[in-house]
Amino acid sequence: MPLITLFLGTMILCFTSFASAEDSAVVLAPELRHVRIEGPREWSEFPETPDANRIEATFSGAANDQEWTLQVRQQDVKQSWPVSLNGKKLDNLARDENDMVVYFPVPPGAVRDGENTLVIEHGARGAAAPDDVRIGQIVLHRRPRDEVLNEATLELEVIDADSGEPLPGRITIITADGALQSVGAESNAHLAVRPGVVFTSTGQARVGVPAGAYALFAGRGFEYSLSSAEVALAAGQSERVRLAIRREVPTEGYAACDTHVHTLTHSGHGDATVEERMVTLAAEGIELPIATDHNVQIDHEPFAREADVRQRFTPVVGNEVTTKVGHFNVFPAIAGGPKPDHTLTEWSEILDSIYATPRVKVAILNHARDLHSGVRPFGPSLFNDAVGENLDGWAMHFNAMEVVNSGATQTDPLRLFHDWMALLNRSRRVTPVGSSDSHDVARHFVGQGRTYIRCDDRDPGAIDVEQAVHNFLEGRVMVSYGLLCEIAVDGKYSSGEISPAPADEVTVAARVLAPHWVDASKVVLYANGNAIREETIDPEAARGLPAGVKWRGEWRIPRPSHDVFLTAIATGPGIEGLYWKAAKPYQPTSPDWTPQVIGCSGAVWIDADHDGRPTPAFDYAERMVLKAGYDFDALLESLAGYDRAVAAQAAHLWQSAHGSLLSEVYQAALSRANPETRSGFREYLEAWRRNQIARAGT
Ligand SMILES: [Zn+2]
Ligand SMILES: [Zn+2]
Repeated sequence: MPLITLFLGTMILCFTSFASAEDSAVVLAPELRHVRIEGPREWSEFPETPDANRIEATFSGAANDQEWTLQVRQQDVKQSWPVSLNGKKLDNLARDENDMVVYFPVPPGAVRDGENTLVIEHGARGAAAPDDVRIGQIVLHRRPRDEVLNEATLELEVIDADSGEPLPGRITIITADGALQSVGAESNAHLAVRPGVVFTSTGQARVGVPAGAYALFAGRGFEYSLSSAEVALAAGQSERVRLAIRREVPTEGYAACDTHVHTLTHSGHGDATVEERMVTLAAEGIELPIATDHNVQIDHEPFAREADVRQRFTPVVGNEVTTKVGHFNVFPAIAGGPKPDHTLTEWSEILDSIYATPRVKVAILNHARDLHSGVRPFGPSLFNDAVGENLDGWAMHFNAMEVVNSGATQTDPLRLFHDWMALLNRSRRVTPVGSSDSHDVARHFVGQGRTYIRCDDRDPGAIDVEQAVHNFLEGRVMVSYGLLCEIAVDGKYSSGEISPAPADEVTVAARVLAPHWVDASKVVLYANGNAIREETIDPEAARGLPAGVKWRGEWRIPRPSHDVFLTAIATGPGIEGLYWKAAKPYQPTSPDWTPQVIGCSGAVWIDADHDGRPTPAFDYAERMVLKAGYDFDALLESLAGYDRAVAAQAAHLWQSAHGSLLSEVYQAALSRANPETRSGFREYLEAWRRNQIARAGT
């Protein structure tokens, strides 16, 4: 029996080894430990003080003359954590925040006679950002990796519960104590495999696993049910498991689109090859994937045919125009054809270059709250988020923006929705977009964030791209991140449409949709970005409703005195299950975080002034500010019948023309204004104050 010593930072644990059930394995660290190098916490869910700042385990043994295997359980690994044995690097822990058990081959001779030392530590000492991780349950198997992972066999099948036909899908394999279990299978033409996750394009998968008990889940993205099974396998045993799923969410007339899809092959980072991407697209039920690798225009058509999944989706050529001042997803583009100039540094020139590119019609502003190359497009040093205005006059004629990016989530998941609504108030015609920005197979998977585009979707392999692009630009979309929220105004007008507001009352019928494994808890109706109605959703109430429907209701609101746009946003508790886990915020602004699922209806305009067109808040405000001349009291008087969005726009226009609204005269006049006007001015001034703070010293 070798003697094992485990050093955990300043803590030293000594214990004698004990063999696992399998004779040839040595447990090097039985417990999970919370590890972090010096510095503040990354997440408040972790204790203030870590157990250790590195893992160091020493053990005495005999040299290995064949490949052995090191098994490690890891949680919340975001950065680089090399694993080394006797000073030689074996590999890095998987860069993946999901809870998983990973296996590293230990080459012959890596273990030596006598004392051996295993070290797992943060790859960049003094790194700018903290990384709280848990590492442990470390086992050294004196057998090759292939043997460890193929002790038993699972013959898996995903079928359509109604037709019995095999379906592309995702199978998640979880250990008895809740971690993703690595399997003995490799990606191939029909499989994309990562620890605990097997995507299959044919509905079939044969994978090896260590003997043990597992929970299995099969699904096919947002629209489908989730099927589960439990298995316990002895060494040498093979088990056949059939998992039946069915489409639950009614999305007829809408194509499931992911506007932001990368591959390792063509973007050079991430881990999904283009072959694996074809499998994952089919398995997640994406019908209209846009290929958006960085500054290249790739056609997924031949890869989809090669993988025999072309009938599952209609591939579209796009490009993530990746500049030093922001990223824009553009489509449809010509594969290998002329491209927008990504070396430009002015938004006006970049957008002109995009729209001058043959075929291209869509320009989506991506992840506007994230920092890339030192630029955060909608950060407070550049953007007044109360009025949707760039402070330096950057051209804002992109025609869509990401409000959900499931690969780069936000600490405040509704932040970008508010930014989008501010742009609509600022008279920008901008379509809201949900996307995945997936570079990976399983870590941030494709289609988690998605956009439903109204179009004929009866044959997903033959979607009319021109029609889809047209409707996308008209705003005929719904944004989905685990929920859908659909509204019909005055009986028939949905996103991208204008109700002529024929009656004194506006009716808004709403439905919140999701599969059975997602709950909705709240739905809020906004007018010009202001919450005007809110309903709490009791998950029990969904029981009497058809499959896929979580809530149904109708609001009646008095016809507003001026045009507004209506949008409804439903939210619910985020998914913790490893079969669809929400990623933690990419650039967190707080150590606290509460995951949420979100569905947004898109915008419906109410033509309350009956002039046959939607009039945004900015247009009303501009007219009133011009008419008031130098008379601030007259402006406030004219604003009386308008909402706070119009007031905020007026505040910005007035201050830009006449100087600070903080002057005593203006403040005195404001104190007499009506509450909506005061709220609008206050919101503008608060945003303006954030701008001043962010710009101080820059
Ligand atoms: Zn990007
Ligand atoms: Zn991207």
